[in-house]
Amino acid sequence: MTIQILPPQLVNQIAAGEVVERPSSIVKELMENAFDAGASRIEIDLEQGGIRMIRISDNGSGIPREELALALSRHATSKISRQEDLVNVLTMGFRGEALPSISSVSRLALTSRTPEANSGYRITADGSEIHPEPEPAAHPPGTTVEVRDLFYNTPARRKFLRADKTELGHILQTVERLALARPDVGILIRHQQKETLRLPPASDTEAWSQRVERILSDQFIDHSIAVNASTEGLQLKGWISLPTHSRSQPDQQFFYVNQRHVRDKLITHAVRQAYQDVMYQNRHAVYVLYLDIDPAWVDVNAHPAKTEVRFRESRQVHDFIFRTLQRTIAAQKPGHAPAIPDEPSPFGFQIPETTVFASGQKQASTPLSRRVTAAYPPPVSPPSPQALSIPFAEYAIQMDASAPVPPLGFAIACLHDTYILAESAQGLVMVDMHAAHERITYESLKQQLENQGSILSQPLLLPLRMTLSRHDADKAEHLAETLVRWGLDLQRTGDTSMVVRAMPALLEGADAQKLVQDLIANSDIGDTASPAVEQAIHEVLAGVACHAAVRAGRKLSLAEMNSLLRQMEATERSGQCNHGRPTWIELDRHKLDSFFMRGR
Ligand code: ADP
Ligand code: MG
Repeated sequence: MTIQILPPQLVNQIAAGEVVERPSSIVKELMENAFDAGASRIEIDLEQGGIRMIRISDNGSGIPREELALALSRHATSKISRQEDLVNVLTMGFRGEALPSISSVSRLALTSRTPEANSGYRITADGSEIHPEPEPAAHPPGTTVEVRDLFYNTPARRKFLRADKTELGHILQTVERLALARPDVGILIRHQQKETLRLPPASDTEAWSQRVERILSDQFIDHSIAVNASTEGLQLKGWISLPTHSRSQPDQQFFYVNQRHVRDKLITHAVRQAYQDVMYQNRHAVYVLYLDIDPAWVDVNAHPAKTEVRFRESRQVHDFIFRTLQRTIAAQKPGHAPAIPDEPSPFGFQIPETTVFASGQKQASTPLSRRVTAAYPPPVSPPSPQALSIPFAEYAIQMDASAPVPPLGFAIACLHDTYILAESAQGLVMVDMHAAHERITYESLKQQLENQGSILSQPLLLPLRMTLSRHDADKAEHLAETLVRWGLDLQRTGDTSMVVRAMPALLEGADAQKLVQDLIANSDIGDTASPAVEQAIHEVLAGVACHAAVRAGRKLSLAEMNSLLRQMEATERSGQCNHGRPTWIELDRHKLDSFFMRGR
């Protein structure tokens, strides 16, 4: 074959291979065009899962008559004109490919009217460069794109389409994803002339959170933490699920960069890492997060469908997301008011001037707040590490009759030697003693290690002699220096023998032999300060805390129980144990009343 230039329609069909996979990809491109045109309302009509027909109308800026043909031409766009613009893209589109690509694999009609024009105009296209003259057509200001018979001229591709219901499912997913990006835009979908989804425009945070709940689940906001933090050039807001409300699939994770939905390994990793010590490995957080970033810091031209981005300072972005979420999760102790995201801003990018970690600073009296949100001054100062040793030191609780009831209330009884029952201002609090204690121990071990560089050690009354395999003894000897930092004094006394002379004070009473064995088993830890090492240390500490924690079955006095409750209030992440199980739940008055059908 001789080399020849391909005809435009074929070029567009090739481009369509990347951009138009199925009806949902068309919906995505057309909705993004409507967003870019500043529409506040979008209506979508579908027939047969969008295969037969997709019609999208908006009330945006419209296209003047003389530009209609251009809109359908390849590489024709109103969104960028110079290379510099590409660096600062804030619109969803900029490649000028969607309309020509779509028109090359379907029967496309574009009808549009600008506010100034006294009539609308309509034009049809087939992916070639030859466009008929626009004809006058009745249309309100805005644009309607109608796409019929997808892949009618490319039968091989048509075969890949699935049942109408499946295609409709993909479309709804796409629309929901876009609807979360732009809560300010009202959206209506009809399939076979039946209303399928109606999302009113949201003008305040409450309406915004209602949209989020409509799309995720009506329980989500109640079981989530609001995020709102910013630093120079970066702002992160939205909602993340409480660690206790994870899912078995990562199917409800929405992340937006400058209002563009993206899937990005770096981001996924940062979020995962933030949850790492509060959630099981194979569970997945639920989140709707919005990152606003200086557009010059991010390259959106990394993928034809623009679902991937490249960050210029990827490390910085990663760390900002990770630290923000980690702090937000850590701040979830009982009685801590979560932050509330600001109002949604339609074109949300602003560079904040100051660094504010707003977590917990705003009073929560809106429906966004979790139930236990009274801003509560703890009656006791956070316990010193020593006060946390086992058995609980019964340190005095300075109870002031006028002080409010603490968030977790006061212990009234212990049930089956496992659960603490406490009366709180709202109702009845139930605490899993073992889980709560495990978390408290773990957090204070971590804190000691972070703050003092080592864990407080306590000599054993009787040094413990133990026999190990030579291999383990070698490892232990090699580790000894690191273990000192962890409060463990370990010396080799022979080929296969060691002696333990001191243990972490917090772990008094724990099985020293088991502890040492666990540490050795996890000892492929170097002693550099890399995140991997840190994570490994945390894993070991979590395991250690689990050994030491009060086993279900041990009797606690009321004072000990109260002491545990106060420690929980003062401890970060105390809402769940190291494995992501909840440590406490509350039945409020309202729930209790409803059990007994009071007030009906
Ligand atoms: P891109 O969005 O990358 O610019 P498209 O092929 O999607 O490329 O659209 C081409 C041009 O047509 C856009 O740049 C815009 O000027 C115009 N356009 C498309 N859809 C609309 C719409 N719904 N409202 C107003 N103008 C539109
Ligand atoms: Mg576009």
